[in-house]
This record gives sequence, C-alpha cells and structure tokens, in this order.
Amino acid sequence: MKAAVFYEPGGPEKIQISEVPDPKPAPDQILIKVKACALNHFDLLVLREADPETFPFPFWGGADISGVVAQAGKSVSEFRTGDRVVINPGLFCGNCEHCLAGEECLCERYGIIGDTVPGGFAEFIAVNEENVLKLPDGISYEEAAALPVVYQTAWRALMTRGALQPGEDMLILGASGGVGSAAIQIAKLAGARVFAVTSSAEKESYAEELGADHVLNRNSGDIWKELANLTNQRGVDVVLENVGAATWNQSLRSLVRGGRLVTVGRTTGALAETDIKMIFWNQLQVIGSTMANQKEFSKVMSLFFQGELKPVIDSVFSLEQAREAYQRLEAGEQFGKIIIKVGDD
Ligand SMILES: [Zn+2]
Repeated sequence: MKAAVFYEPGGPEKIQISEVPDPKPAPDQILIKVKACALNHFDLLVLREADPETFPFPFWGGADISGVVAQAGKSVSEFRTGDRVVINPGLFCGNCEHCLAGEECLCERYGIIGDTVPGGFAEFIAVNEENVLKLPDGISYEEAAALPVVYQTAWRALMTRGALQPGEDMLILGASGGVGSAAIQIAKLAGARVFAVTSSAEKESYAEELGADHVLNRNSGDIWKELANLTNQRGVDVVLENVGAATWNQSLRSLVRGGRLVTVGRTTGALAETDIKMIFWNQLQVIGSTMANQKEFSKVMSLFFQGELKPVIDSVFSLEQAREAYQRLEAGEQFGKIIIKVGDD
C-alpha cells in the first residue's frame, strides 16, 4: 500500500510517498480502508524527534482516522465489511489497574496510533475492535477525522480534570490550534465565559464564531493586561495551557486565588521556571491531562454526532500532498484541523 513515509528524523521535507507492506490484522482486529486522517502537532514532534538509533523506521504518522471496514477479523462481533467508522487512537492494555478502573488513558502501556505505532497517512490500517466507533450517516469522513485527538483531549482537560463549572471564567491559550478550537466550544457548552488567545485578526473572527466571549490577539498588545482589565483584576478560574515555556508563568499569574491550570501541551518548550510561592500562597492547582478514557471519548463523539460540537477544518490535502500538509502545520497558519484525504472518492 501507499503511505506518507519518513526514513529519518527532520522536517516536512523528509516525508515521501512510498510503498510499504499491507497491514496484517489479528483475528480480533479490523482492517480499515482509510478515507481521511487529520494532522496533529505531535506528528511534527514524532518526525523531528525520532531517535535515529532506536526509532522503527520507516514510519508514517496520523492519529485521527476515519474510513471503511475492509475486513473484520474472525473474533470481531460488532463490525462488518463496509461499515463507516472513526477510530479512537488511544492504545491501552486492558489489564492494568488503570484500565480496569476505566481510566484507559492512564494505562501503564498507553500509546497513540501514529505516535507509538504507524498511523493513518496510508491506504490501510489494522486496529483493535475497541478502538472503532460507527459513524452515523450524514457525517463526512473529513469532519469525523477532525475530532478524535483534540476533542477528547479538550473534553477530559476541561470537564473531568479541570472540573469547569457554569459561570466560571476560562482562558484558552493557542485558541487557533485543534485543542484550542475544540476547547472554546466545550467551554461554552459548559456555560463558562471564554477568553481565547490567538495571533491574527483573521483568527480572532474564527474564535468569535466558535463562541469565544473575548478574543485576545497576542500580536497586537499585552494580552495579560487586557485579561486583567476584562476580569476587573480578578483573574480567571481555569487556564488551558498548551503553549508551554513561553506562557507558563503568565498563565499561573492570570489565575484567581484557588484557580486551576490544566496543562495539555508544550508547543514552545517543556522547561519553565516556576515561583513555588505563587502556587502555595495563591493555592493554585496545576493539573496534567492527556487524551481521554473510553467513556469520555464516547461522550464527546456523541455530542458531535448530535450536532452539539462542530469540528473546524482548516484545509484538505491528498495523500500525495502530505508534505505540503505538514508544511502548513509547521508554518502555524491554520485555524482548526489540517486533513489528508486518502483515495479518490
Ligand atoms: Zn492498561
């Protein structure tokens, strides 16, 4: 089959279309013909940070996959050939204490399709039955592929880990990214007042369309001062942090006493110095979150199927244009998800 493969670490220029062996599904697995697959920021990290000594080259990324069942293994019960499906890319063992407690994303062997194993930037992929969800009619493959990683991540971060309450003030950094644009919608659904940070006038209007109450442009003024003024110097109840080093301390300072910072990423770097006194004196909570458990995934997908959440698609590329898709992501010009469409129909 064809895949958007890389053979060594580097930038988007390392991506090339190559023939790779077809996947061989186990009896409890499902072979999916990929129709669409979205890019995530970690696709760039996997490409850049792959260790030349130990990484299993050749490799291809892609976690957010939708497609059609091409073949269901003998012990697969719920799916048959031709079913339209979307895939939850979280991989878990099913046996450890966290899996048994229903917290699959805390699994000791947790992995992500496209990160720890090759992904959906290819014509086919074999996945476990528990990773597959049927797609209702009327939902396009492109829309479905825009959701899994960022919506489950935003849902768990805000609703479970951040325990966001109606009427609370919430700051969303990186609002133009996939998690950010998902978080704006989820925070509004939860009844919060949303402050969203983005980087251009065009992106400001997108964030407003998604429901943000106040959009702050980090390239046209001091967003932290603006935020303080808008909250009457009180600060916000919850911050969603995915920027990392560049904003970490300001994010903590923007919280009301007793506020919560939920971190889900580190786009600008993973190391930041923190004033510990600020945390204990202001009684802040610093909360980590990543991906979601099976129940949270089903919940957020059902809200999407019911029309409560609307994925934001920035652009659609063909598999042959995979390198250009990576380049667009790296340039940071997108608002919402960059999708790679696989096949002609
Ligand atoms: Zn486990």
